[in-house]
Amino acid sequence: MSDVKNITPEQLALKVTMEMLMEHLEESQSKDPEFVCPVCHKSSFTVPVSSKDPTKPMIVTMPLPHSEGRGIWNFQIMCNICAHSMYFNTGKICSLLKEKGKI
Ligand SMILES: [Zn+2]
Repeated sequence: MSDVKNITPEQLALKVTMEMLMEHLEESQSKDPEFVCPVCHKSSFTVPVSSKDPTKPMIVTMPLPHSEGRGIWNFQIMCNICAHSMYFNTGKICSLLKEKGKI
């Protein structure tokens, strides 16, 4: 585990690997085994990978109105059946991974 005290939230989000995110999602899903897509009610999902590093999940930025150059960062999870997408806030994921000692 590296020192994560003096890095920005964005730098921390970039450290999250597919393995870390998948493990977190599997743990979360185990608390609700009935977790399904809210649109098609199936349970088949894909986590898109970064185009620069296939070991990292893709990060999607949602722009903020009237805040040029700023946005909210999210990891995306997409339903394989209907393509509905869900977004998981990178800051909260990093916080949960830190609590678990994973990052
Ligand atoms: Zn779906």
